Amino acid sequence: MTPVATMREATLTIGADKKYATFDRTGRLLFYTEPGKAVRRGLDHRMVESAEGEWGRSYRELNQAEKNEMIEALREGIRSYSSSADIDVILREKLEQIGAWTSEKLARDGDQFHIMYRPISILPPDQYRSLVVQVAEGCSYNRCLFCDFYRDRPFHIKSEQELTLHLALLKAFFAERLQDRSGVFLGDGNALVIPTERLQSIIHLLKRELPSTLFESGIATFMDTFSLERKSLEELRRLREEGMQIVYVGFETGADPLRDFLRKQGTADEALTAMITLKQAGYQLAVIVLVGAGGKEYADRHVKDTLSVLAKLPFTRGDLIYLSPFVEPDNTGYTETATSAGLAALPEEELDAQYEFLRQELRSMHPEVKVTRYSILQHLY
Ligand code: SF4
Repeated sequence: MTPVATMREATLTIGADKKYATFDRTGRLLFYTEPGKAVRRGLDHRMVESAEGEWGRSYRELNQAEKNEMIEALREGIRSYSSSADIDVILREKLEQIGAWTSEKLARDGDQFHIMYRPISILPPDQYRSLVVQVAEGCSYNRCLFCDFYRDRPFHIKSEQELTLHLALLKAFFAERLQDRSGVFLGDGNALVIPTERLQSIIHLLKRELPSTLFESGIATFMDTFSLERKSLEELRRLREEGMQIVYVGFETGADPLRDFLRKQGTADEALTAMITLKQAGYQLAVIVLVGAGGKEYADRHVKDTLSVLAKLPFTRGDLIYLSPFVEPDNTGYTETATSAGLAALPEEELDAQYEFLRQELRSMHPEVKVTRYSILQHLY
């Protein structure tokens, strides 16, 4: 079957036999799909395969040999397509560009990523196309029992000098691909904790150094619910006026005993107050709920109290509720603590049932809000 090429301003897709590979404007592989599975390649050269399974999509990271095999097979396909007679000059040049990205060269490209970034441990799925700027590293709290995203680094707010260097490296790495990024995300885990005036001057620096188009859809960040009390409504409004727009809030659960177990600071009511303050200050809100947290022991209370708190939130159109299936962390002591508390993880089918129940209840409770899945296993930047 003759392959079909679809050229867009930023991407080129080559497809044949229901198999498609898409490359960015520089020829680097972005993703590959075939019936039943898809593989995405991140900027750090990680490649994550997703496949349809009995309980929804499953995700796994390809190992080095698998990555090399896929890339070289695609290059071979591109080479033979390129040799066909009726390809125009522009497309042929693009194919040559793709062919130049050997598996070794792509791996070296991934190494560059680690020079400018600490690992981007997690991002909301609708922020994968943003430019992540690590204005801070880590999380100022870093003790939630279910979260091991930033255990590898102390919390640190970058100085102006460090941030200037970080931005220079980002600009060199992304180069012409910067125009394909569609927003700015401030890393890492709770950048809104940065004192207001310092955060304002950081935003000013970003606006001086980065293309203005990146700020058109506003600046986004994660935030916990318990450090927000350090910011007044007036300060939050000021940051909103500077361009901060969407805040992804790790609410996790409305059940206080479960919050205690998870070492999530503050009560659910305090978290509610923080989220209401964000709405009053004009922010778009994305609330993250940890589906299946606390296993069977907490299941009923988790669902009931979470729905009861979220019912009180003044969501507006454009807000999001992310339902994130619980994944046991590796190195926080979660397993030992859960075992000694006698907690059993929810079996897959019960986790799925809790997810579906929450999804349907929240959709009918807040029809103006998008309620969607957020699997941390699919994360790839
Ligand atoms: S869940 Fe949020 S607040 Fe808790 S440790 Fe992780 S990043 Fe920090």
